Amino acid sequence: MVTKILHIDKYKADPGALEEAGRILRGGGLVAFPTETVYGLGGNALDPEAARKIYAAKGRPSDNPLIVHISQVSELTPLVKEIPAMAEPLIRKWWPGPMTLIFKKSGAVPDETTGGLDTVAVRMPSHPVAAALIKASGIPIAAPSANLSGRPSPTSARHVIEDMDGRIDMIIDGGECEIGLESTIIDVTGAEPELLRPGFITIEDIRALTGGGKIDPAVTAPGGDGLRPRAPGMKYRHYAPKAPLAIVEGEPEAAAEEINRLCSEAASRGQKAGVICSGAMAARIKCPLVAELGEDESPESAAPRLFAALRKMDEEGADLIYAQAYRDKGVGLAVMNRLRKAAGYNIIKVHSPLG
Ligand code: AMP
Ligand code: MG
Repeated sequence: MVTKILHIDKYKADPGALEEAGRILRGGGLVAFPTETVYGLGGNALDPEAARKIYAAKGRPSDNPLIVHISQVSELTPLVKEIPAMAEPLIRKWWPGPMTLIFKKSGAVPDETTGGLDTVAVRMPSHPVAAALIKASGIPIAAPSANLSGRPSPTSARHVIEDMDGRIDMIIDGGECEIGLESTIIDVTGAEPELLRPGFITIEDIRALTGGGKIDPAVTAPGGDGLRPRAPGMKYRHYAPKAPLAIVEGEPEAAAEEINRLCSEAASRGQKAGVICSGAMAARIKCPLVAELGEDESPESAAPRLFAALRKMDEEGADLIYAQAYRDKGVGLAVMNRLRKAAGYNIIKVHSPLG
């Protein structure tokens, strides 16, 4: 299949420019498009055949449910059984935006879209191209991240082309994604909001707004028996570069020293090591292959660069990768959640010497 590439200026996006893309979606085809979080791989959410095509294009297991994207709050009602009261302040505050809510699904949503679950994930993106595309199509759009299953999510059209060229009908290039991490997923079907996947909107934000909010234990720990992730996508090794990745946890100075030691050990074995860390830490790193996650130590500046950094390690042919750890606070919880999964929970703890 020949994949058409369409360039759309984010600031001039209108449904008219996206008419052809809308037609493809209505006709059961697949279109990748930018959102404020990561690039999505879209298909008609109400068409079981489109959902099957999405799984095939990604090489993703079909029990991994898709997020349904809408362009107006009124489009939510036909997709769900009910809108629980706790969802209302969340919707008012963060839609359109990087937040996905889990509802009991209505009969309109096919099982293929939800991976057989009786719940449906819904999001209203704020990216002007995504919003215009959904409007142009006139249907709800099921869209997982537009990467091959298991690979880091795409934050630029170049990443999508790497993974999806020849596999889908169209790729819309709308520039770089601002947030760079997938949406925050909140289950609103229980007694209080439950965070299933951390993102740019944090548990601290959710608690401040609703006065409640628990965290699915699978957010920070590996899934296993007795600790089954409620967001099924969270059970696979995910976001992973080709080379094995280890997270080095500790005070920045001690962590940098340990990373340098590990890199020179690798070099003496003839292996090429790569390092993913903040600009602040990069000043201390002696390894020649470094991907910087922003200048300061903040997870906010790391988030938009994380997936591109993981892909860079593949491009440069790293044999081993070491990444700096961030604190599990604010957006740091989301950055560490993705890093831990990419590392398959391989964590090296460094203790600074006493005194
Ligand atoms: P992605 O589209 O790649 O950002 O991943 C979508 C993820 O959303 C899935 O892997 C699940 O973790 C989550 N998700 C989608 N639908 C549901 C649902 N009904 N219940 C819980 N989690 C969901
Ligand atoms: Mg994904």
